[in-house]
Amino acid sequence: MEKIILQTKQLVKTYKADSPSPVYALKGIDIQLKKGEFVALMGRSGSGKSTFLHQIALLDRPTSGYIAIKGVDVSELSEKERAEFRLKMLGYVFQDYALIPELNLYENIALPMMALGKKKKEYNKEVLEIIERVGLHGREGNLPSELSGGEQQRVSIARAIVNKPDILFADEPTANLDSEAAAVVLNIMRELVDEYGQTIIMVTHEPDDKKYVDRAVWLKDGKLQSSQ
Ligand code: ADP
Ligand code: MG
Repeated sequence: MEKIILQTKQLVKTYKADSPSPVYALKGIDIQLKKGEFVALMGRSGSGKSTFLHQIALLDRPTSGYIAIKGVDVSELSEKERAEFRLKMLGYVFQDYALIPELNLYENIALPMMALGKKKKEYNKEVLEIIERVGLHGREGNLPSELSGGEQQRVSIARAIVNKPDILFADEPTANLDSEAAAVVLNIMRELVDEYGQTIIMVTHEPDDKKYVDRAVWLKDGKLQSSQ
């Protein structure tokens, strides 16, 4: 039996719930993600993709409904436990890379290790391996401003996986990239799934990205449409 790593039941998110004009962003989402699966979350702008990702990635709290990650009902976690869960078990990649401009490539990638209180001698080998893995060997000392958009996104992927997260969440990771740089990023994500069994859920509105993933699900007006 395939292992379910993340599950939602009747997940609802309403923004401005107490105002005269509430926004019903998620209207009851049921989904199951399997371990080692690469899932694309598709849909038009405003369909609720980022909202859904933020709820399941523990970056926000839903209005109602159930989310379990590795069998843990995350609504039961305190803020401190959620922070620890994010740092140890989840990885994030955003459209705008979200790198620290003052830190070089190596330091940006090592940041989650430092946040866990690890020493350089404990993480150095791993960080260098990951830099090699994303094809940026030799660029360790460069600042983000000295890298192309595609290279910056590869740094953000490296940072997201350095702690070996159970799930990698990516919100339109290739939206700001030209098609060549986008293909490099998507191929790296595919290889992480094939080589390490990384679980990835990626928001995209590019239908062609389907060829990189195991399954695509569509959101429309806050509801899950179909799965294939
Ligand atoms: P997508 O990522 O698919 O473009 P979003 O999840 O960003 O869609 O947005 C879904 C709906 O929720 C939209 O109508 C959007 O305007 C609304 N929305 C998103 N974030 C907020 C917020 N913080 N406050 C109020 N409404 C929001
Ligand atoms: Mg979005």
